[in-house]
Amino acid sequence: MLLELRSVVDRVLAAPDRSARGALPPIRLSQNEMPWAPADMIVSAMTEAVRNVHRYPDYHRSAARAAVAGAMGLDPGRIAIDNGSGSLLHALARLVCEPGVHGVRPAPSFEAYAAALSLAGAESTEVGLDENGAMDLDAMLAAVGPDTRIVYLCNPNNPTGGMRSVEDIRNFLQRVPASVLVVVDEAYREFVSVEPVDATVGLLDEFENLVLLRTLSKAHGLAGIRVGYAAAAPRIAEALRRTSVGFALNSVAEAAVIAAFGPAGLAVAQERVSVIVSERARVEAALKAGNVSYVPSQANFLFLHGDAADLLSRLEARGVLARPFPRGGGVRVTIGLPEENDAVLGALL
Ligand code: PMP
Repeated sequence: MLLELRSVVDRVLAAPDRSARGALPPIRLSQNEMPWAPADMIVSAMTEAVRNVHRYPDYHRSAARAAVAGAMGLDPGRIAIDNGSGSLLHALARLVCEPGVHGVRPAPSFEAYAAALSLAGAESTEVGLDENGAMDLDAMLAAVGPDTRIVYLCNPNNPTGGMRSVEDIRNFLQRVPASVLVVVDEAYREFVSVEPVDATVGLLDEFENLVLLRTLSKAHGLAGIRVGYAAAAPRIAEALRRTSVGFALNSVAEAAVIAAFGPAGLAVAQERVSVIVSERARVEAALKAGNVSYVPSQANFLFLHGDAADLLSRLEARGVLARPFPRGGGVRVTIGLPEENDAVLGALL
């Protein structure tokens, strides 16, 4: 007899496989990565760790958690670290969902929320964005029902870059039932220029049902090493730690976290983020002057309105790989090096 798969797995297998790739345009602005290789001090720390990979990493991820907690001004008991924030957002769905329960997620937004809810067996309601390409918090609240266990907020939102303020998030948390886990995915938080980067961290003292999710893949420029972290109430962080796959954070990644969250690592990241933020302002100003329609962004990418296929081919003609969102009515392009951004502007103006 053939192996029986859960029906949710059958649905996953029926979806188109997007893994096949042809030759790619050389300027890669499709995945919201940083354009620079890691700083030497981070490479050295990882190299040193490579010399010891005959040993298992720290099962409890203690030093890595302490480094992250120290940088956020939090107790390490509030931190869980795993191999990518993508893993954590799936783990959170598994913590609170079972077949028959319900989750709320934004759209267009990061696709993994739908997958996480579906694989955890939950039904989900997709809620559109507000006019600024940010979370429509009133509509999301209205979608919460008696069976809702989890709400994902993406702030700033991927792929639009729109953001709701810390006051708006507080207001949402005050209105949502305390039994609902609210996951605020802050993958792009370090690129925010309208309020302090850590403004939302204080909310953790007020709301036990809040989880902040962040990553080393974006501002820290370490997408390939696969590290993300959650900051939450100690009970939730501990549940994440206890249910994580043992040793999933490998020792090279662990060394990268410790280096990235030391004073020198943080200074490099901050310097690089400020280059991206000022490039974002330059590109936005040029698009505005050229009457190109885009969504003002608080992240390291811009969403361009228009026919996705047409925009993509104009960008590709300049060697730029962007990410199409045909349903969302446009393409998303990452802010890269100044010359890469010039290629984008050349294609659009
Ligand atoms: N959240 C958002 C909003 C993202 O855009 C991404 C990556 N594109 C992730 C989470 C996952 O990041 P990672 O797994 O690399 O930490």
